[in-house]
Amino acid sequence: MKKSLCVLLMVLLTVATLFGAGTKEDASVVKIGVSMPTQSLQRWNQDGANMKSQLEAAGYKVDLQYAGDNDIPTQVAQLENMITTGCKALVIASIDGSALSEVLKQAKAKDIAVIAYDRLIMNTDAVTYYATFDNFKVGTIQGTYIRDALKLDSTPGPYYIELFTGSPDDNNINFFFGGAMSILEPYIKSGKLVVRSGQTSKAQVATLNWSTEEAQKRMENLITANGYGPKGNRLDAVYSSNDSIANGLTNALVAAGYTKANFPIITGQDCDKPAVKNMLQGLQSMSIFKDTRTLASKVVEMVNSIVKGEKVDVNDTKTYNNGVKVVPSYLCEPVFATVDNYKALLIDSGYYTEADLKI
Ligand code: BGC
Repeated sequence: MKKSLCVLLMVLLTVATLFGAGTKEDASVVKIGVSMPTQSLQRWNQDGANMKSQLEAAGYKVDLQYAGDNDIPTQVAQLENMITTGCKALVIASIDGSALSEVLKQAKAKDIAVIAYDRLIMNTDAVTYYATFDNFKVGTIQGTYIRDALKLDSTPGPYYIELFTGSPDDNNINFFFGGAMSILEPYIKSGKLVVRSGQTSKAQVATLNWSTEEAQKRMENLITANGYGPKGNRLDAVYSSNDSIANGLTNALVAAGYTKANFPIITGQDCDKPAVKNMLQGLQSMSIFKDTRTLASKVVEMVNSIVKGEKVDVNDTKTYNNGVKVVPSYLCEPVFATVDNYKALLIDSGYYTEADLKI
């Protein structure tokens, strides 16, 4: 009698264990690695937090890692760890898009899907999909803003401008800067827009790590070398690819005596809190809103399709060549933001509270 009870208990235990192990195979325990470049910029904190919460809500385990402050060896080590600890897919916002080829060989060997997040990963066939915003469009919106704000088509000019883009190891700058220059270059060629410094090539206007401090330093040097100032040579606009750079420019321009009344036109991207506050104070003209919630939900959708072996939804199969392959991509829509629409975009949508933007 005792023995048969024992057997029954063992059977029940085995069934329970098997059932438990069975659930390990479904989405509730599939682990996804999310690798973000830095915590020093607001957007990546939001991207990471959104990815984690949306992936968890979809039933996944999430290993979210930030690579210190844009530290490439740290990112590589974190990816290695995600690969060896059984992640089924990796979502990676790379620091240097060309520095991951080696580590991603290991991912490919284990059949781990790799989604390039926001920035394309270059020179590897291990990247499976790319999810980002329409980066060329970001640049054309910025360039068009400068063209229209300076009335380049209806006034004689000339107008004076300096150019700033982002990190040379970030493939996105080819699209941001390329998009902006597709609008501005004809005016530079015709002499209606003048870059006094003569610095117009991507290499001359790049800013390592998108650093606010580096941008500020370069702007200070440009001010000194070209005699810009409210009482000096005219500076009508500064093209900046994003908000962290715009922030550095603004610091340098304020220190040079510019005020709300005579501030040059400055572009940006991300709608970072400091940038929106600058817009509200007349110290930055526009930004681009890239709703990180939208990008995160698109990536979660991609992950779901990959895990279930279903077709992954993409909307661009031509643009993003990483040097080895054209990576199937999903491009989200970037949105133009100024003081006129920031309330609807940022506050009514729940992205920020009024208090977040309090000056
Ligand atoms: C992103 C921008 C961001 C920049 C700096 C780019 O790759 O697309 O949104 O401002 O990196 O982090």
